[in-house]
Amino acid sequence: MCKEYHDLNPHQRILMGPGPSNVDSRVLKAMATPLIGHLDPDFLEIMNETMELLRYVFGTENEMTIAMSGTGSSGMETCLVNLLEPGDKAVVGINGLFGQRMADIIGRCGAELIPVEAEWGKIIEPEDIEEALKNNPGVKLVCIVHAETSTGVRQPLKEIADIAHRFDALLVADTVTSLGGIPVELDKNGVDATYSGTQKCLSCPPGLSPVSFNEKAVKVLENRKSKVQSWYLDLTMIRNYWGKERFYHHTAPISMIYALREALRLVYEEGLEARYKRHLLNGGAFTTGIEAMGLELLVEEEYRLPELIAIKIPEGVEDSFVRSTLLNEFNIEIGGGLGELAGKLWRVGLMGVSSTKKNVYLCLTALESILSRTDFKVERGAAVAAAEEYYKNNS
Ligand SMILES: *Cc1c(COP(=O)(O)O)cnc(C)c1O
Repeated sequence: MCKEYHDLNPHQRILMGPGPSNVDSRVLKAMATPLIGHLDPDFLEIMNETMELLRYVFGTENEMTIAMSGTGSSGMETCLVNLLEPGDKAVVGINGLFGQRMADIIGRCGAELIPVEAEWGKIIEPEDIEEALKNNPGVKLVCIVHAETSTGVRQPLKEIADIAHRFDALLVADTVTSLGGIPVELDKNGVDATYSGTQKCLSCPPGLSPVSFNEKAVKVLENRKSKVQSWYLDLTMIRNYWGKERFYHHTAPISMIYALREALRLVYEEGLEARYKRHLLNGGAFTTGIEAMGLELLVEEEYRLPELIAIKIPEGVEDSFVRSTLLNEFNIEIGGGLGELAGKLWRVGLMGVSSTKKNVYLCLTALESILSRTDFKVERGAAVAAAEEYYKNNS
């Protein structure tokens, strides 16, 4: 052999981007648990517990609450291909990249797309959804992104759910970046179907997509006239694997389910209220520090996500210099802007395990150090002092 392949040895990074977030060592350890068969009685129990814990985190009684094999986008596709048939109408709120992705999939389903747009960084106004429903009778789905990771916007759900229901449409919500970070509360909010991801606020490696359908959504699935166009994501079959029948459909990714169960167990041990409080506190301290540094945020306070903070890149500062220095000198990963905000935005994630006071101080300090090497004027020490003050007043 002329080439040697060495042991894996990537840098140890502090993951403060838009996902993946850092993973607790308990989750990594769970992944190393010996494999068993995916129809082994022990594994069926593990699946049951995973479903129970998912219902807890989602805030739902929905029986059909399972984990799809695949990342968050597979859950997005699952919701849409199972609920839409060719010719159906779907309203989708587009105020960022993930609304656009839903629109793309809706088109591929052969459904009629009714876009409701808002500027990136703003919420979708409920009145605009109502207007679209008035103008387009017979809409089947209203689709909305709860936590728009491309902009850091938190979209209120309840009002839009009520509007959708008045027009006999179902509400599909993307909860990829909200689950485990801010309250999702499917049942209270009136969400009929949702999909999420494992690598954001659940702090589990990417690879599964938790999905939940309420009874109304299950009815729509059962009343389909045509077959679900995707064999792999067809819930009419997959429900018989996660349900009592336990029919083989595809081999469950055993180790990933171990990981998800452990990540959910960590959420359960911390408690949802405490977890939301932690995300709010660290997000609040971080944004206070960023503003004290003289930087501007994209989203107004009321609709800001505590787990994903979008910072406008100041005039004259080079995006790639700052992000590569953060990575190379401090081992901190943050995200850049996507789509129309590429080069204009930094996106800092404080998700799950990554949402700590230590990371807040570290990232503020590192950013300050790097910015002081550019033309941007920073007052040294102001950011950490402001964050400290915030912690003092809010803990
Ligand atoms: C990350 C993300 C997705 C896609 O998830 P993948 O795991 O990358 O497939 C979808 N929606 C939102 C809001 C996200 O943040």
